Amino acid sequence: MGKNLTSRSEDYSRWYNELVVKADLAENSGVRGCMVIKPYGFAIWEKMQAQLDKMFKETGHENAYFPLFIPKSYLSKEASHVEGFAKECAVVTHYRLKNAEDGSGIVVDEEAKLEEELIVRPTSETIIWDTYRRWIQSYRDLPIMVNQWANVVRWEMRTRLFLRTAEFLWQEGHTAHATRQEAMDEAEQMMHVYADFAESYMGVPVIKGTKTESERFAGAEETFCIEALMQDGKALQAGTSHFLGQNFAKAFDVKFATKEGKQDFVWATSWGVSTRLMGALIMTHSDDNGLVLPPKLAPIQVVIVPIYKGMEQLDAIAERVEPLIKSLREKGISVKFDKRDTHKPGFKFNEYELKGVPVRLAVGQRDLESGTFEVARRDTLEKESVKAEEIVDRITALLEDIQKNIYQKALDFRSDHITKVDTYEEFKNVLEEKGGFISAHWDGTNETEERIKNETKATIRCIPFPPEKEEGSCMVTGNPSVQRVLFAKAY
Ligand code: AMP
Repeated sequence: MGKNLTSRSEDYSRWYNELVVKADLAENSGVRGCMVIKPYGFAIWEKMQAQLDKMFKETGHENAYFPLFIPKSYLSKEASHVEGFAKECAVVTHYRLKNAEDGSGIVVDEEAKLEEELIVRPTSETIIWDTYRRWIQSYRDLPIMVNQWANVVRWEMRTRLFLRTAEFLWQEGHTAHATRQEAMDEAEQMMHVYADFAESYMGVPVIKGTKTESERFAGAEETFCIEALMQDGKALQAGTSHFLGQNFAKAFDVKFATKEGKQDFVWATSWGVSTRLMGALIMTHSDDNGLVLPPKLAPIQVVIVPIYKGMEQLDAIAERVEPLIKSLREKGISVKFDKRDTHKPGFKFNEYELKGVPVRLAVGQRDLESGTFEVARRDTLEKESVKAEEIVDRITALLEDIQKNIYQKALDFRSDHITKVDTYEEFKNVLEEKGGFISAHWDGTNETEERIKNETKATIRCIPFPPEKEEGSCMVTGNPSVQRVLFAKAY
């Protein structure tokens, strides 16, 4: 343990990988591209899940569960959907193994070949819309507002812990509506829910927008998204919400009787956030000493480290902190009293700094005598001495302050990293020297977008939403443009 973490300025990407492993969040596994999420990392994910789940329920959704496997024929029913996902599908072909005849080990039993191959879900629109056909007959059956918490598999070639893995955990909402407007409103609403979660809980400022046609979800008519900015100036797509039109209803023949007695296809949305949010959280706030966690998502909000010699002193400290622990817990604050005698206080300080525990209390013999606690906050590393009578209020205030402070810091960084440019020359310079989001005029064509991507590696992250109209001309072709879009290099 200790501070032997590569610094961000030295090698940002190495810093990230080391941090994820050293802070006990996750590690690589024996399966290429698949990670093991360790208990401390999973505890953060569980806090995210709990809050998101609450927000989904408050907006009228309920949870259900659909199969992990999708018959191959389902996937091919929506043409652009299969086209988008075919390249990264894991396929199940057999259902049995047997001992090899030559004794060389275990092999696939060719006699146990599936009649129809199964795809491990990369996303569940197809199996869900095949189900919705049986659930929906009339307008009275609508809307359907369902979410599922699940794992999905996308055979990604270049993977990174949390940010892009071959198997990831996520939630996917799938709603069905009677009208185009209602579905569009739902898709937009979920983008706002995601943005609210990212900002109010993760402390991560995001830009809301829509995707260009080439960046849209395969099978969607409109993709709403939230985009975050990491400390190295690269953008990260943090969540997406899709208006799917009637594409899946048509592919799976899901019709309903309208109020007027006519038959119409059902309107759809889908929306998801994944364990990638963990990557966003880590990359946005953490520093060269380790993780910095927003108090609202920190598994341990306050850690108390006793500084003692011998059991007698430890007992005296334990007695002093017991009522404090009780009052903090009564306020819903999670506290850990680390009285392990296998590690020295200095080691523990390092460990909790690395793990991003927002507030650390140290209590020694001297504090017992003076009736004070030494309090350290993780975000600024500032220390202060607080009187025992004031400690609960001070900790409560500190947790709120840290939550606000790290959000503000990230917001200031982002504000400093949105640059308006009007020429392609300037665009390339800013991209090279500063990074971040670049706001520029674009002529709205695939060709220009593709050309910029090939020449600079920057993509259009989003068309800001709500649209801010501004007449201009495309920085590359000079053709007319009605609004600026945001470019960036992205994860
Ligand atoms: P999509 O279904 O492609 O719109 O993606 C839904 C959500 O999953 C988005 O928030 C993505 O950022 C996230 N996501 C997509 N691919 C991966 C991946 N390989 N690993 C982790 N998260 C992902």
